[in-house]
Amino acid sequence: MTLTLTVLGGSAAWPNPGQGCSAYLVEDGTTKVLLDCGPNTLLELRKHVDYTKLDAIVISHCHSDHILDLVPYRYGLIYGPGNSSLRIPVWLPPGGRERMEMLGGAFAGQGEPHASFWEPAFEMEEYDPAAGLTIGRLRISFAATQHYVECFAMRVDGPENRTLFYSSDTGSVQPLIGLVQGAEVVIAEATLDQSDDKPEAERGHMTPEDAGRLADAAGAHTLIVTHLWSERPDNVVEKTVSEHFRGRILIAKPGLRVDA
Ligand SMILES: [Zn+2]
Ligand SMILES: [Zn+2]
Repeated sequence: MTLTLTVLGGSAAWPNPGQGCSAYLVEDGTTKVLLDCGPNTLLELRKHVDYTKLDAIVISHCHSDHILDLVPYRYGLIYGPGNSSLRIPVWLPPGGRERMEMLGGAFAGQGEPHASFWEPAFEMEEYDPAAGLTIGRLRISFAATQHYVECFAMRVDGPENRTLFYSSDTGSVQPLIGLVQGAEVVIAEATLDQSDDKPEAERGHMTPEDAGRLADAAGAHTLIVTHLWSERPDNVVEKTVSEHFRGRILIAKPGLRVDA
């Protein structure tokens, strides 16, 4: 039994040409979970899976590049042909419900309570990062990252000890070292250039060097580098990462599939 990851986006804060932002589909043959739901990623999701059949969506943090496609997803679940009674569980970080109600309020009908925008499509709950989540046969554990808002990296443990790790957005490798160990596939962001001269303690994003160090600490066989600007050539990112990680290095692209 494999644990398969499908990249649905991979852009940084806004979509690159032909590429949406953060969203990663994880499947173990039975359970299907979406990690984040950034803008312009539903169009890729729908190529790979029946969008009505996800077991859950887990959100790392409430920045727009990680949540915005929940809006069209909501419309699809309610108004898509034959979908009237579907509700997909959406697990949010602590404080996420209030943020999502504010977002829903912008689209809710006149006089409608803000929370009611999401209710027909999603069961929104906040996870307890210390307790983690069990979704089908997948176990999801969290570690708080260093970011501009509260944000959580995720480790997904599947059947037969298959494990993958998603850094979400973080300015430092350090808070993730404990959780990443043993992950076979690491998805790590590398938004900043090497030339960024901010001290690590003040960053909200990592560099390619950091992504390589994180995958190396995990002992991973594969690193998927993500949350990238298209203006920076892939081979420049790959070269820097390869100085810090000796396993397989892939650049996140929509439709890229990797087994843990
Ligand atoms: Zn962010
Ligand atoms: Zn982001």
